[in-house]
Amino acid sequence: MRNQNPEPENAVSLQPATHAPRFTHGPLIVVSGPSGVGKTTVVERLLHLGNLQMRRAVTATTRQQRDGEAEGISYHFWTREQFQSALDTGQMLESAVVHGRDCYGTPRSEVDPYLEAGIGVVLVIDVQGAARVRELCPECLTVFVVAPSFEVLEARLRGRGSESEERIQRRLETARQELARVNEFDHVIVNENLDRAVAELERLVRDRFPTR
Ligand code: ADP
Ligand code: 5GP
Repeated sequence: MRNQNPEPENAVSLQPATHAPRFTHGPLIVVSGPSGVGKTTVVERLLHLGNLQMRRAVTATTRQQRDGEAEGISYHFWTREQFQSALDTGQMLESAVVHGRDCYGTPRSEVDPYLEAGIGVVLVIDVQGAARVRELCPECLTVFVVAPSFEVLEARLRGRGSESEERIQRRLETARQELARVNEFDHVIVNENLDRAVAELERLVRDRFPTR
């Protein structure tokens, strides 16, 4: 039988990060959940409100840039060599192979300086990355976003219009595995009504900022 998830020829060897972020003041928030559920939309809306001093970490990936995505804004789009080099030199907080093929990871430079300055940082990452960050930084807040149903999730993935059918199927398969890990998270947000989901995330995040 053909291997459905072949190891990429020039796969990078992911290594666990060995030390926690130098977490001092700002809260670290991890938002996870299946691809297409609306994580980025909810987080960007929250940040756009501007009520809290926080930012989204721009993470790195070896996947192809989609139409409408910009380097350094959507992601840092790295080659496998760049990704491997960042891992080898200890620059990554966490990293994972997502959807069985592409590498994703959070550069420490996107997190540490901001937390130290008292600025909150949101990581929009997959469940493997969330588990790793939870280990390194148990005081972080972890939130799992779900769609009202699997059918709605599929419709959102298709509606985004950014993926081939093969990639959609891969994302749906990953989603099934990720949904089984919902209990690992501090909170679950059902992203049905966008405004309500944003308000719920805002309330959870606000509680993590020190009161003055
Ligand atoms: P993710 O970051 O989880 O992969 P996106 O933020 O890219 O997901 O959202 C996937 C699609 O779903 C986008 O087209 C987005 O506009 C849409 N979407 C997000 N939240 C909602 C919502 N509450 N209701 C309807 N569509 C939504
Ligand atoms: P997409 O390719 O749809 O942008 O993202 C695929 C998945 O990778 C999403 O669940 C997204 O949250 C996750 N992801 C994005 N950046 C990172 C990262 O730096 N680390 C990990 N572990 N997952 C990431």
